[in-house]
Amino acid sequence: MVLPVPVPRTYAYEIPAELEPRVVPGARVVVPVQRRQVVGLVAAVDVAPPPPLVAPRAILAAPDAEPALSPALLELGRWISRYYGAPLGLALRALLPGALWSVRHPAGPAERGERVFVLTGGLPSLLERERAFRRAPKRRIAFEAVEAIGGSAPVRHLVTQLKLSSAVLDGLVKQGLGRYADVPHPRDPFAGLSSPPPPDLTDGQRRAAAAIAGTPVDVPVLIQGVTGSGKTLVYLDVLRGVVASGHGAILLVPEIALTPQTVARVRGVFGDQVAVLHSGLSEGERADAWRALRRGERGVAVGPRSAVFAPVQRLGAIVVDEEHEPSYKQGTAPRYHARDVALARARLEGARVILGSATPSLETLHLAGTGKVARFELPERIGARPLPAVEVIDLRSAPRVPEARGVPWTVPLDEAVRDALARGEQAILLLNRRGFATYLQCPACGDVRDCPQCAIALTVHQTPPALRCHYCGHEEPVPTSCRACSRETQRMRGLGTQQLEHFVASRFPAARIARMDLDTTSTKWAHHRILDRVAQGTVDILLGTQMIAKGLDFPNVTVVGVVDADTGLNFPDFRAAERTFQLVAQVAGRAGRGPKGGRVYVQTRAPGHHAIRAAAVHSVSAFAAAELPLREPPHPPYPPRVGLVRFVVTGHDQAHTAALAERVAAWLRRANAERLAGALTVLGPAPLALARAGQGARGTSARAGGPGLGGEGSRCRHGGSRSRDDALSAARAPPVEPWCETGRNISTQQGQREIVQRDRVERLAIAGPAPALARELYHERHAPIGVLARPL
Ligand code: ADP
Ligand code: ZN
Repeated sequence: MVLPVPVPRTYAYEIPAELEPRVVPGARVVVPVQRRQVVGLVAAVDVAPPPPLVAPRAILAAPDAEPALSPALLELGRWISRYYGAPLGLALRALLPGALWSVRHPAGPAERGERVFVLTGGLPSLLERERAFRRAPKRRIAFEAVEAIGGSAPVRHLVTQLKLSSAVLDGLVKQGLGRYADVPHPRDPFAGLSSPPPPDLTDGQRRAAAAIAGTPVDVPVLIQGVTGSGKTLVYLDVLRGVVASGHGAILLVPEIALTPQTVARVRGVFGDQVAVLHSGLSEGERADAWRALRRGERGVAVGPRSAVFAPVQRLGAIVVDEEHEPSYKQGTAPRYHARDVALARARLEGARVILGSATPSLETLHLAGTGKVARFELPERIGARPLPAVEVIDLRSAPRVPEARGVPWTVPLDEAVRDALARGEQAILLLNRRGFATYLQCPACGDVRDCPQCAIALTVHQTPPALRCHYCGHEEPVPTSCRACSRETQRMRGLGTQQLEHFVASRFPAARIARMDLDTTSTKWAHHRILDRVAQGTVDILLGTQMIAKGLDFPNVTVVGVVDADTGLNFPDFRAAERTFQLVAQVAGRAGRGPKGGRVYVQTRAPGHHAIRAAAVHSVSAFAAAELPLREPPHPPYPPRVGLVRFVVTGHDQAHTAALAERVAAWLRRANAERLAGALTVLGPAPLALARAGQGARGTSARAGGPGLGGEGSRCRHGGSRSRDDALSAARAPPVEPWCETGRNISTQQGQREIVQRDRVERLAIAGPAPALARELYHERHAPIGVLARPL
């Protein structure tokens, strides 16, 4: 038995005879643990219980007729556990919707069917009616009320709206005049979405689809198509063939691309076959969708990251759209990357993988270069529309609009926006930093307000006014004077989307402006509503963070401005340049999708940087040619040249945490020398970039192959809100709290929390009982365990 807790071991239970048929690998069962009950998953049946023997307790219930996990998904869970160094229980927990782990409703949330009352017997004559209801006037009222509204109605409606009692309805049923029926009530927020029939494929799309069909199923495919080349239609065409042959399929999209636009296109082809797994779903909705897929009632799953686990039957293909997107990486344990899980799952189930992007990750490009991935290109936009011209504006020298003050707003961008508005066209402005200003600084002493937990500058927000930490969510009022020197005026520095919105609104008072960032999209469907307004044409300027850079297809957008391209260029992360290139190239791709064409303005202080230059000419190959050598010797090697695994230790006592990190590093060095013939380069440990006294955090990294120098930035975080947006990309290293999830398993005697995690394992496989590493550390022993590393 595997329990959904961060403990790297399995448990043995006895199978009562009556449950035997249901207790098979992959089945959910209810078992006693100490004095509680929990839902667990059967990993294996008929195994000898491990000594020392305590008489095993009995399984209490097995709620499902069919095992929740197929053998392939169970095996995928094992792969995730090994590859990402997560306890099997946490890996398996990620595979099922949360509601199916609740022991209070072991069978999962009730499927929401709508109970409907239906009249069955007609009572055509008045006489019959008199006779039938002689001693039951209330039944007559109810009967005639239902009759009046068409002969059937949801029970809920009859009881709450028409104030009929359910006893009276029961009476009608007993009398043979009515019956109850359960009609399935789809909790599908996209239901009723209009579904335009797909257009015919262009020649280029047809060639790409044919090339994919001609590639052996076990060779993953990359469709590298420029923005607006119509990749979606190619996926759908391939998937149509998959579904026609009786197979199921999964389409992964970045969360933000899961818009009504995308869903309508998929619906247009597959209709009710589609289950949409949106993060806005309630637990019940998610469980419903999961069950419909598990039973094979629906064959196509569309969703973000976690949809890679959808229990699609007879899986034939997985598409990973925008495969370069950082949002495919899960930020908590198990820290899987959905693209890599897709590849692993497809191998297990004999399915095809299709990766698509205009700006593929360097890892995928590398695989394409070695022939492990087959690459097909869509070099042209639909309708032979040109890619938009990109003008790079040097912020150091370009003339600024005088009224702009601290906002980097140059004359060329100003004129472009003004002209677009005058022509009734739309503009998109990207600024990858939310909030009003980046930070608050005292002009006298230079003190910067920072977060008491995270040691990073607090962001100034104006609506509502507050200083807020973008990592942990800490909030405090905007101070009126300096805490260090008490001077009264505080100066806001840096520019966030709120301030940009403020400025743009005063600059273009007649324009209708929508802002899209983490702060404006926290409610369910908020970003759909904003994008809908843009599509309807009731928004003239859409501004926001990276959220607006992706997947949007608005033909009336003719101007795209990147207000400050440098926000991400200097993060302490080896992917900083790659992310900047992708972001700028992607947002540029939002312009000129219609017949009116378009133009892009990129403001930067680093116009000569290869990421900016390559994005300006929409050239993936130019970027890769400049970037790849920087990740190889004589520079410190980085993926895809080598594999990289990161270990992070966090705790509340800095000295203790530092000592633990030293031990992890020492353990790695010894394993490297004794067992791996020096195949690894161990970096660090080094303090995490954002750690603070009293909350120490140290990271150490191991590289397979190549010499290594220096440490790696990474960060710790305890508690706090989810960061999906710019906070996350700013932190670069995703937030870390993997083993915190159930605190009691990780407390040591001193009450300190120790966290070990591996990150960025894309290019390094560690075979062997990686979870044991965590266990050894928890128990403050460090016996070497078997680790085998090999560069992929
Ligand atoms: P990409 O994802 O490659 O950037 P999309 O799939 O969003 O591109 O397609 C860009 C636009 O072209 C969309 O508006 C889409 O409806 C349209 N389109 C795609 N294929 C065709 C086609 N064969 N004929 C006409 N329009 C198409
Ligand atoms: Zn904080």
